[in-house]
Amino acid sequence: MIVIGAGPGGMTAALYASRANLSVLMLDRGIYGGQMNNTAEVENYPGFKSILGPDLAKEMYESSTQFDAEYAYGNVEKITVAADNAKIVKTDSDEYAAKALIIATGSQYKKLGVPGEDEYGGRGVSYCAVCDGAFFRDREVIVVGGGDSAIEEGSYLTQLVKKVDVVHRRDELRAQKILQDRAFANPKIDFTWDTIVTEIEGDGQKVTGVKTHNKKTGQDTEVSISGVFIYVGVEPMTEPFQKLGITDEEGWIKTNEKMETAVSGIFAIGDVRKKELRQITTAVGDGSIAGQGVFSYIESLK
Ligand code: FAD
Repeated sequence: MIVIGAGPGGMTAALYASRANLSVLMLDRGIYGGQMNNTAEVENYPGFKSILGPDLAKEMYESSTQFDAEYAYGNVEKITVAADNAKIVKTDSDEYAAKALIIATGSQYKKLGVPGEDEYGGRGVSYCAVCDGAFFRDREVIVVGGGDSAIEEGSYLTQLVKKVDVVHRRDELRAQKILQDRAFANPKIDFTWDTIVTEIEGDGQKVTGVKTHNKKTGQDTEVSISGVFIYVGVEPMTEPFQKLGITDEEGWIKTNEKMETAVSGIFAIGDVRKKELRQITTAVGDGSIAGQGVFSYIESLK
């Protein structure tokens, strides 16, 4: 069987399936760990009071490969189902056939879609505080968004930067209460409410500021700033699976409680799935169900 994506969901599925004696290949187009590599501190994964995301990724990788599950590089581009029901996985460099598949490709950050965002990507515009925060040491940055990721990562940035201004289009946050309380008590965090970023400006080399618009007062403002961290929601990584007929109108994969999709022998788990709560714990839970489910599916083929 093949697991596409080696984040917490995929690694847990690999652990369960390989422990049930299946031959398991995990394919990922990046390093194992998925979004955990972009997370500073995880405080809500049982067993660890607090652990750095990349450290948790390493722990999970070691347990997921202890029963001989393999991990290999592969950017999956297309899936087809052969006449004999084999699942054919095409990557940018290889082609594999498996009896069953688990899709665990997660989600990615949405863009703001404003002028300057693409031009200054990696030159002041970032979607990952853990990756890029250190470039803004002792400077002022803005964080766009009001959910868990925006507030969590904004708080993390205050350890590095001089000041964080959270620019949010509403007049209240969506983030969990504990994250809000910490952010409101943090003297390095300011809030700009009811406001959207309309343009990211630069000098041709790097970001120098943003233009904002207050939706309540109608006021347009230009703010000098070195960095813009964008956390305005996520979208599923389901491009290679669109033709399988397993996604909803927004691209999330629909499953039942057993993590089965509409195609027999193809399962989906974690953030890529249409679900309520996208977290490490829920990805891991999905992974265990699918890992076990694949075993039952392959047994049923005998
Ligand atoms: P992911 O972790 O997204 O892994 C998906 C993997 O699939 C990636 O490695 C990717 O490279 C790979 N992939 C995608 N497409 C392809 C393809 N076509 N071919 C091959 N490989 C592919 N959760 C918590 O529980 N606690 C937290 O404190 C927390 N903080 C967070 C902070 C940030 C900044 C972010 C971004 C997320 C945070 N989360 C947190 C959420 C958590 O990280 C995710 O819910 C979890 O990682 C989802 O796991 P997953 O296995 O479904 O997918």
